[in-house]
Amino acid sequence: MASALSDKLSRLVKEMRGQARITESNVQDMLREVRMALLEADVALPVVRDFVARVKDKALGQEVVGSLNPGQALVGIVNRELVATMGEGVSDINLAAQPPAVILMAGLQGAGKTTTTAKLAKHLIEKRKKKVLTVSGDVYRPAAIEQLKTVTRQAGAEWFPSSPDQKPLDIARAALDHARRQYFDVLLVDTAGRLAIDEALMREIKELHAALKPVETLFVVDAMQGQDAVNTAKAFREALPLTGIVLTKMDGDSRGGAALSVRQITGAPIKFAGVSEKIDGLEVFDAERHAGRILGMGDIVALVEQVTAGVDMEAAQKLAAKVKSGEGFDLNDFLSQIQQMKQMGGLATLMDKLPAQMQAKAGQVDMDKAERDIRRKEGIICSMTPLERRKPDLIKATRKRRIAAGAGVQVQEVNRLLNEFDQMQGMMKKMKGGGLMKMMKRMGG
Ligand code: GDP
Repeated sequence: MASALSDKLSRLVKEMRGQARITESNVQDMLREVRMALLEADVALPVVRDFVARVKDKALGQEVVGSLNPGQALVGIVNRELVATMGEGVSDINLAAQPPAVILMAGLQGAGKTTTTAKLAKHLIEKRKKKVLTVSGDVYRPAAIEQLKTVTRQAGAEWFPSSPDQKPLDIARAALDHARRQYFDVLLVDTAGRLAIDEALMREIKELHAALKPVETLFVVDAMQGQDAVNTAKAFREALPLTGIVLTKMDGDSRGGAALSVRQITGAPIKFAGVSEKIDGLEVFDAERHAGRILGMGDIVALVEQVTAGVDMEAAQKLAAKVKSGEGFDLNDFLSQIQQMKQMGGLATLMDKLPAQMQAKAGQVDMDKAERDIRRKEGIICSMTPLERRKPDLIKATRKRRIAAGAGVQVQEVNRLLNEFDQMQGMMKKMKGGGLMKMMKRMGG
């Protein structure tokens, strides 16, 4: 895998130390790296050109503030421009219509329309408390209708039957009528996809659009499609007034450049990202996190934010002060570290946010076991008296037995925890307050 853009830029910058400004001469090499990084992330060429031109405009003559070097400053500019292009903030499904609000799903075959239809149904039921009906207009593939039935059931929504001998328009009208009579809030209409764009398909979906007057017309596109996503996006934009994009298969190993291309070509906001084959694998799209992915920096930004958001700042500062002095780090602090980890959503969520390289290293760990382990440790520390937590040296055989019984574990486990605590205390003294970033650097190194 290519090294992160920020690394490459840092290397370039080493050769031009002391320059405090981004200039025409020093920006060229850096822009070439930006261009390469975007192409590697599979952003389409015309989109890359426009993007790099905008970045150059913004960068030229910019003063480089504080401790940043020009390379870091440029990464900042690129990052901001990526976020601005892909859309700041988040936008959920618009349901501001006379119920039933109709949502039309468009896209190529295999893009993930049917799966996404069910995921959206689940999302609308659980997060927006809506009564949801789905229907399939894919009369060319009987299996597609059955597939929608199955996944709709998994989503806990209702499914309106259709069959291959009907016309898509008739099916849609009948479903809409049923949704009205039965007071559904939302009607999700899955449509036929083709392997490539063809005119008959486009005509059909245009007719559906005209008859249903959907409040949302979502373009579903496979993030792994990379460069090809542009042509598909163009064809759909010309046929339909798209109101949003769903990028599927973001759990794949693409760097997700399709997001930038599709957003720029269609002008429609990216609303959701599909992150697994499962029914709950749908996330509200987050442009800031995605910018990090395109730049190859993982979700470090998100991780750092989550770390600060999930943590009681005062407690964290106290802990940091103790760690800095290397004194007084006791089992209470050990416990509070464990609890902070839980507040942050557990190990598995944290791991998801690390860049691929680090994930690969961390992947050797059995996450379930690690989480169970944490809970057990918490149990052991909670079975200790306040005095024991402050002065772990007091914990000898009798106390160990009592603690073990209290936590429902073997004495060996108490021993293991105390050993680990000793090691942690030693490490803390050595680190002297470098904190999470330092630790992550070491992991990534
Ligand atoms: P359709 O032809 O557009 O209706 O596409 P389907 O919904 O049938 O999806 C095609 C394939 O992609 C199926 O095997 C899905 O399980 C898979 N798929 C859809 N969305 C995702 C996703 O977000 N992640 C992963 N890994 N697979 C997905």
